[in-house]
Amino acid sequence: MSKATPDNPCSKCGGALYQTVKNTFTGEVWREFTCRSCGHIVDVNEGKALCQILHDDAENAKREKKDQ
Ligand SMILES: [Zn+2]
Repeated sequence: MSKATPDNPCSKCGGALYQTVKNTFTGEVWREFTCRSCGHIVDVNEGKALCQILHDDAENAKREKKDQ
């Protein structure tokens, strides 16, 4: 469930951006967009979403076990 392209193109050249997600040790999530054309990098702080992601994964895992 990864988004291939962000909502906005590169602010410098208008080229397509691709997204990478970095999790820091502090639990903050940074979405990093890199332009394929000029290499311009945009960092977006998503806040501490990692716990919620892990929680959702755990809930999904529980549900899958129940179904089996
Ligand atoms: Zn660019």
